[in-house]
Amino acid sequence: MKTSLRTHTCGELTANNIGEKVTLCGWIQKIRKLGGMTFIDLRDRYGITQLAFNAETNPDLCKQIEPFGREWVIQVTGTVAERYSKNKNIPTGDIEILAEKITVLNESLTPPFTIEDESDGGDELRMKFRYLDLRRNPVKNNLLFRHKLGIAIRNYMNNIGFVEIETPMLVNSTPEGARDFVVPSRLSHGEFYALPQSPQTFKQLLMVSGFDRYFQIVKCFRDEDLRADRQPEFTQIDCEMSFITQEDILQTFEGLIKYIFKEIKGIDIEPIERITWHDAMKYYGSDKPDARFGMRFVELNNVLQHKDFKVFNEAELVVGIVAKGCAHYSRKQLDELTNFVKRPQVGATGLVYIQCQEDGHFKSSVDKFYDQNDLQAVAKECGAEAGDLILIMAGPRMKTQTQLCQLRLEMGSRLGLRKAGEYKLLWVVDFPLLEWDEETQRYYAMHHPFTAPKPEHEAMLESDPGHVNANAYDLVINGTEVGGGSIRIHDKELQKRMFKALGFTEEEAQKQFGFLMNAFQYGAPPHGGLAFGFDRMCSVLCDADTIRDFIAFPKNNAARDMMLGAPTPISDAQLKELGLK
Ligand code: ASP
Repeated sequence: MKTSLRTHTCGELTANNIGEKVTLCGWIQKIRKLGGMTFIDLRDRYGITQLAFNAETNPDLCKQIEPFGREWVIQVTGTVAERYSKNKNIPTGDIEILAEKITVLNESLTPPFTIEDESDGGDELRMKFRYLDLRRNPVKNNLLFRHKLGIAIRNYMNNIGFVEIETPMLVNSTPEGARDFVVPSRLSHGEFYALPQSPQTFKQLLMVSGFDRYFQIVKCFRDEDLRADRQPEFTQIDCEMSFITQEDILQTFEGLIKYIFKEIKGIDIEPIERITWHDAMKYYGSDKPDARFGMRFVELNNVLQHKDFKVFNEAELVVGIVAKGCAHYSRKQLDELTNFVKRPQVGATGLVYIQCQEDGHFKSSVDKFYDQNDLQAVAKECGAEAGDLILIMAGPRMKTQTQLCQLRLEMGSRLGLRKAGEYKLLWVVDFPLLEWDEETQRYYAMHHPFTAPKPEHEAMLESDPGHVNANAYDLVINGTEVGGGSIRIHDKELQKRMFKALGFTEEEAQKQFGFLMNAFQYGAPPHGGLAFGFDRMCSVLCDADTIRDFIAFPKNNAARDMMLGAPTPISDAQLKELGLK
């Protein structure tokens, strides 16, 4: 990376360069004095190179560097020499630069936290000084990883004929989906743009235009309450195709995912297994199962509702999991698990256990109600063996499934079954088209209102909307939803019926989505697509906990940019101009 100011970077000189005269630029990582020698570790994006200063042979230079401090930016010219004590941990560890000339390019205040892999800075502080945080290797490497992944995706998509097309950032607000971020219009007071939650309708219009294969790596905005893995602005790999079936989409993007794993991780992944939404809920209590381990749910209504135990008898669902080899759990460990499910985040009322002891005896928390034969029948139903622990929960179906899912994941973690570096991918397919919301007493689109019912279910859209399935699919990696999409409606009449099922009046539908339904009248091809969360894909591929680590300038949990201080109030003059005052 030779420029006018440097001949090499701080990451590239090796023993092959010994004797060469070089000029480097970078930041001072560390200054060390050892007797008559001073050493400076000089850092740039590419690595660290040691500079050596000898007080005896070069007193002037040693005097010059005396006031230098951490993070000063300097330019140094010198000769590459073999190092006396080599550092095998870094590529430049065999050499050092015998400094001859130093220019200070800029001084630096002492940074508020150490620029080390393990920094002493807390989260908030590092966010406030994110530009310094980004100098640290782990954060820097995440962004380099993100770049590499983005390039790989663009190459692959280009090679299979996808065209990247940008869509607008100032769009109209719609009531479906998440909350919109809105932007007041200066030219039309009282009216607002919204920032796109996704380019969904635009990519469908591009299919009407005939582009056939579209993709875009694109910012999306959703004003939701934040969780660890959400950001108000995030990036999607947004894709759409024409003249396809669900199978074409799954195959095409399985190709992309395979390529990514091979190219970026050097891993050959197995063909991606498919599971229906219904089975995912039944066996894992989640539409995004972590399938790195089994511990599948076993429904136990049949074997446990025949005795006098009210809790089970009155429950819609009695369901259990088997924790292999955990029969020896102590009272304390079992209490811990009970407390885990009773935490407000899980919200269960209790947990029943059966210990399948090595001697063939069963010990349980419901011994009062069930005899040895009953417990043995449960063990048989669950496939539990001597030494195993059965954990059982009961209650309303969905709620209990969700709670047991959390316990399953907890047990998976405790037993070391959720291994970093191991990847289990799943297509979850056949999602229901609609989901009922008790609070507002209406159906919502499970995916979005443009998702088509399965053709064989189309007739039930009015008569039995809750049982209509869609050709909608999610890609799940290790329990994280990495992407999702669907086959779309491309017929105006069907789209009208869908809006009706969602409780829109004809006028509302026309007003909000008339542009799309109008477009469908001009030769809309059958089409479908999906979108992957780009930030999330980065974090999953790197086994990281949060997508924040892969975003250069992320927001905090209160959706604030700690560095900018955004959001901020605006001036009265601006408010007036926007018609807001
Ligand atoms: N637009 C959808 C989303 O943001 C993805 C898709 O259906 O293609 O989740």
